[in-house]
Amino acid sequence: MSSILVIGGGAAGLIAAIMGAKTGASVTLLERNERLGKKILITGKGRCNVTSAADVEEIVRHFPGNGTFLYSSLRAFDSARTVEFFENLGVPLKIERGQRVFPVSDRAQDVVDALEKELKRLGVSVHYGQRVKAIKRKAEGAVAGVVTEKGDSFPASAIIIATGGMTYPGTGSTGDGYRLAQIVGHEIKPLRPSLVPLVTEEKWIADLQGLSLKNVRLTLTTKNGKKLGEDFGEMIFTHFGLSGPLILTLSKKATDYWEQKGKSTDQKEPLTMKINLKPALTPEQLDRRIQRDFEQYARKQYKNALQDLLPKSLIPVIQKLSMIPEDKFVHQINRQERFRLQELIRAMTLTVVDHRPMKEAIVTAGGVSIKEINPKTMASKIVPGLFFAGEVIDVDGYTGGFNLQGAWSTGAIAGKSAAEVVTDT
Ligand SMILES: Cc1cc2nc3c(=O)[nH]c(=O)nc-3n(C[C@H](O)[C@H](O)[C@H](O)COP(=O)(O)OP(=O)(O)OC[C@H]3O[C@@H](n4cnc5c(N)ncnc54)[C@H](O)[C@@H]3O)c2cc1C
Repeated sequence: MSSILVIGGGAAGLIAAIMGAKTGASVTLLERNERLGKKILITGKGRCNVTSAADVEEIVRHFPGNGTFLYSSLRAFDSARTVEFFENLGVPLKIERGQRVFPVSDRAQDVVDALEKELKRLGVSVHYGQRVKAIKRKAEGAVAGVVTEKGDSFPASAIIIATGGMTYPGTGSTGDGYRLAQIVGHEIKPLRPSLVPLVTEEKWIADLQGLSLKNVRLTLTTKNGKKLGEDFGEMIFTHFGLSGPLILTLSKKATDYWEQKGKSTDQKEPLTMKINLKPALTPEQLDRRIQRDFEQYARKQYKNALQDLLPKSLIPVIQKLSMIPEDKFVHQINRQERFRLQELIRAMTLTVVDHRPMKEAIVTAGGVSIKEINPKTMASKIVPGLFFAGEVIDVDGYTGGFNLQGAWSTGAIAGKSAAEVVTDT
């Protein structure tokens, strides 16, 4: 029987191997680690946000830039198919806030275990500790097999590159697939971190480390006030700046802007992040709210009058930024000072000067150019018998289960199409 070789035992590679075997091909999977799905295990903080319950259109919208490339694979294997697939493997799923789908058990390990069990059931030959270093080709150009770092050769009639991106390299994704693809003639679009924490200029941010804010509105603009993005939700302060779901989403706008500007890392144009701590209140409502608190605490010092309005660790920072002396009695605070406080609460302003390095990003933007991949089959348009799946392709989505859905869809289609090619020959 002709065989498929899958490089990489992550989300895309695992489902590709399963679909290839189900379609009737003999499948070999090579994984450089001693275990499968290391990155899956850390997804969704160990709970694995398997997919999004959104429809195809909505999912495509959550892949800014090249999302439309995913239409065919998503239509063939949408999130309902993903749910069905995992439930059939014995992993019941549940839908949470924001249409995020998780295992009922809240254990990413269950997802990996189920995939591994299915590989065994289907007779996929899995080789651990095998890092592919080159693709061998026939004289006419079609793939012939691979060679690994250990010097072992594996022949194949079709090869699926599912090596992931290059974030969290401890999971095994170190960008090998980009090099393998480039050597056989594929264009690699510039690689950059996407969904990555942001670094701010203000040093006092370290005092807020660990403070998580829910229900805030963030607005990211250029220094000239051009709005790059705005969103509502949850964020966290870190020792270097900002992180959390809202920041990761907005970071995409920042990294894309910096990429467009073509500036090198040390020349990034600083951007402005405004945090509205009370977005549900109009300026008038917020002012009335502050006045109420100030009436209640009229005989106290300013530093002791904000506890009903703000989280405890934020009070000293806001107090300093508002330039109202901490020991001033509340009844002595004038209208102008109160107004300053109100404005600060509605727009706590930070200067974003950089993003954290690639290794700390959730996904890699850039990768194998979509122009050279058939979106219906994931086949290379350059090398006969070569296929791509998952993050190695130049598509990247927002948080919410979209990236894994992209990996399941492209992986499933790549596995099926590769099997159809090899079983036809
Ligand atoms: C902290 C974190 C949390 C995340 N949470 C979520 C989430 O909850 N939901 C979501 O949708 N997305 C999430 N993502 C993104 C998601 O994990 C990835 O987009 C997805 O895993 C990509 O799948 P992949 O199969 O393409 O790559 P990977 O999962 O990275 O798998 C690639 C595999 O290839 C192997 N490999 C690499 N090179 C070679 C080689 N030369 N030879 C052999 N094997 C090789 C690697 O060891 C690895 O096992 C998260 C990412 C991170 C970092």
